[in-house]
Amino acid sequence: MENKSTAQLMLIDDEPFMLRLLGRTLETLGFTAFLSYNSGATALDALDALDASDQRAGLGGPPDIILLDLNMPEMDGIEFIRHIVERGFAGSLILVSGEDERTLQAVSTLMRAHRIAVLGHLHKPVVPVALAALLAKWQSPTHGGARAVKTDYGAEAVRAAIANNELVNYYQPKVAVADGRVVGVETLVRWRHPVDGMVFPDQFIGVAEAHGLIDDLTRVVLCEALAQCRAWRDAGLALRVAVNVSMDNLAVLGFPDFVAGAASAAGVPPSDLVLEVTESRLMTDLRAPLEILTRLRLKRFGLSIDDFGTGHSSLSQLRDIPFDELKIDRGFVHRAWKDETLRAIFEASLGLARQLGMEVVAEGVEDQHDWDYLRHTNCDLAQGYFIARPMPAAELPGWMNSWQERLQARPSVLC
Ligand code: C2E
Ligand code: MG
Ligand code: MG
Repeated sequence: MENKSTAQLMLIDDEPFMLRLLGRTLETLGFTAFLSYNSGATALDALDALDASDQRAGLGGPPDIILLDLNMPEMDGIEFIRHIVERGFAGSLILVSGEDERTLQAVSTLMRAHRIAVLGHLHKPVVPVALAALLAKWQSPTHGGARAVKTDYGAEAVRAAIANNELVNYYQPKVAVADGRVVGVETLVRWRHPVDGMVFPDQFIGVAEAHGLIDDLTRVVLCEALAQCRAWRDAGLALRVAVNVSMDNLAVLGFPDFVAGAASAAGVPPSDLVLEVTESRLMTDLRAPLEILTRLRLKRFGLSIDDFGTGHSSLSQLRDIPFDELKIDRGFVHRAWKDETLRAIFEASLGLARQLGMEVVAEGVEDQHDWDYLRHTNCDLAQGYFIARPMPAAELPGWMNSWQERLQARPSVLC
């Protein structure tokens, strides 16, 4: 196992007593390479000195982890974070503060938006086991902690991927919360890149949308998903298959006829296909999407509002569009059991969907806690890593067997 105590730490707090206490706790935990500063300004000076390859500050290089107090006179913690972002700080941060949970959450969110790795936050007075747990999350860059390099793909590369059949569908199960029954799958596209390996949709869907390629992409994904749905039906597996559609697909008035034609050619009844819609950018003219979605509804296709509660996936869409399924974004599901704010938003969304007669899917069910919490709500369906990660179609029957075994062997899955 990696020796964590090699991590270099920087402690910043305006109270000398707190600095001494933190220092002593760190030593007890086996961390000896740390330096303490009683203001943001002195810490920044030290960082600048290190940048200039001057080792005066006593550390062997820039700190791996900064433990930062939020409330400091002169430069507060949030301002300090802005300064280290400007300096391209590549390490991790732990917030130490007497502020309430919601404020600490907000600052953690801000840091993630700045792309700084946040190990977590601690309330004062710091409890040694809580500090140890956060430090244990740190991984040195030489031990796989470095972020994978993302490539920016251009329109031509994405166009070629579609033309060369490099896109493959993965499927993630959706199960009934009440009894664990597998009711359907969501189709999630991947790009099997000949050189870069598996590329995830956040690296090419936006490119496809921006360059008029999303219709071609959706057609490929949809046709493969329908063929797969038919193959499962023939094998005795009745699964509703969901496909993601972008708002840009809903600008082409022929889209409902294309979907209806493809479903009928594949021999899949409309009620077995669900279209999940996310609006990543504001639509000013809703006439075309409204016409297209309403026609799809009339044809009895399922319509789902995806990532509910984020971006533009919101109340006005619920008012205007006849969705019959609502997917609560994973940001309000994972950890809702222990976070009052998330729970309030989750339960309000659930109540809203209930009143509108919609089926509800909780996304991002990542662990047993999330699942146990859902079991105490009247949410219909669950999806997430706790149940299964997205997988190639061929792996689904094997997963279904193991899921059955999990349900039977460990009744706790269902308690
Ligand atoms: P989405 O439709 O909200 O899909 C759920 C995403 O969350 C998937 O990411 C899935 O792998 C991930 N996920 C599932 N369970 C968990 C969990 O427990 N924890 C966490 N942290 N994540 C979980 P993926 O496959 O990377 O897809 C990202 C997004 O790309 C999708 O979000 C969808 O908006 C878009 N997308 C995927 N396939 C297509 C497509 O064929 N067409 C279009 N237009 N968009 C697509
Ligand atoms: Mg989706
Ligand atoms: Mg979603």
